[in-house]
Amino acid sequence: MKIAVVGTGYVGLVTGTCLAETGNTVTCVDIDQRKVQKLQSGQITIYEPGLEKLFDRNLKEERLLFTTSLADGIKDAEIIFLALPTPPGADGSADLRYVLGVADDIGKLLQDYKVIIDKSTVPVGTAEKVHAAIAANYKGEFDVVSNPEFLREGVAVDDFMKPDRVVIGTTSERAQKLLTELYAPYVRQGNPLIFMDERSAELTKYAANSFLATKISFMNEIAQLCERLGADVDMVRRGIGSDDRIGKRFLFPGIGYGGSCFPKDVQALVHSSGEADYDFKILNAVMEVNETQKRHLVSKIKAYYEGGLTGKHFALWGLAFKPNTDDIREAPALEIIDALVEAGATVTAFDPEAMNNVRGVIGDKIQYAETTYDALEGADALIIATEWNEFRTPDFDKILATLKEPVVFDGRNLFEVQHMYEKGFHYESIGRPLIQ
Ligand code: NAD
Repeated sequence: MKIAVVGTGYVGLVTGTCLAETGNTVTCVDIDQRKVQKLQSGQITIYEPGLEKLFDRNLKEERLLFTTSLADGIKDAEIIFLALPTPPGADGSADLRYVLGVADDIGKLLQDYKVIIDKSTVPVGTAEKVHAAIAANYKGEFDVVSNPEFLREGVAVDDFMKPDRVVIGTTSERAQKLLTELYAPYVRQGNPLIFMDERSAELTKYAANSFLATKISFMNEIAQLCERLGADVDMVRRGIGSDDRIGKRFLFPGIGYGGSCFPKDVQALVHSSGEADYDFKILNAVMEVNETQKRHLVSKIKAYYEGGLTGKHFALWGLAFKPNTDDIREAPALEIIDALVEAGATVTAFDPEAMNNVRGVIGDKIQYAETTYDALEGADALIIATEWNEFRTPDFDKILATLKEPVVFDGRNLFEVQHMYEKGFHYESIGRPLIQ
């Protein structure tokens, strides 16, 4: 099939590349000229495990093309994916200007039947708005489908190639048939294509992300309770996770959820609820808990250094909002940096993939280390903000030898409390006992 993908960010580039991988010809469109030039010349613009190999192969086979021209991109396509940003507006609602702006442009360009598929996360009713925007300029037949994306950064290629499910919101039989054909190679193992109406599909995405964010905030509250009651959240997590109604996954407490999706999607659902005259009480609490949790590690640090943080220097491991990505949007590490610097401390950070992005946003507010251990030079303590695998079994003796004091504040519970105590560390983590 001939496909266009409009928006070549984390979702668009993975979608385009993975669709090309099964033999489709995909043209990716983006307004960012520098990004398009880089991609055209074979340079990948995001870090996503496994993506580069597929990107190289499909570029070479000329099944994956890039352009800044929407007209060129969609000219021969039967299917147009929208993978455009939907950032939060000032009131928390999803800003639809990119999606509706492109819909408007598509309406001016359409000449024959096409299916326009919305992959962006958008509020209920957006498919109707996209339809209206196109219909304002194009009187022929076309369909607008809501096909929310569930890929997770860090495992996005696997998630796209073998999705747990594909949600397709459309009442058009013609679009249903086309999408069934398009997704057939990806659901060969029997994972379902779930067809529903557009509104339900739009809400499914928000419900999924909000439910996951709720799980995180719930465990963060259990962790807070553990710290006050002398219980160990690791034990509680294992105890409840073995009940398959609860499940083992997504029960890890930490320093609050971040990233480009959970914070904005929870906010947007709360906003949509308000517009529908419904007060979504749980989600308001989820957001409040998250804000508190993001400050929790710094509160522990401040409590430890009773005299204040002026003149203290910290090593920070991890900047990305989660491991295996270079994405730093709403990364809790950035809030930790702000709070430390505001309190008069300095920071040297190391992250395997995200340092360039952080440099682009906060420049020389902090220093950047070449390696994990370089970050420790001259530091009073180590802070861990992202659970990259390479931080899990470090050389503890080297850490002891390099830090000025054997102090670790771990926002991701990477190490065993007892082991750290025996090694001689003052080790503080989330929801677990402090041995001293
Ligand atoms: P992104 O910011 O990484 O990418 C968006 C791209 O769209 C950028 O490259 C930007 O230059 C481009 N763009 C903006 N306006 C354009 C225009 N008029 N024409 C062409 N291109 C334009 O965003 P993302 O993370 O890929 O997210 C896209 C959507 O998918 C959002 O709605 C998001 O909520 C949703 N989503 C994201 C993820 C994720 O993990 N990142 C997962 C599921 C769903």
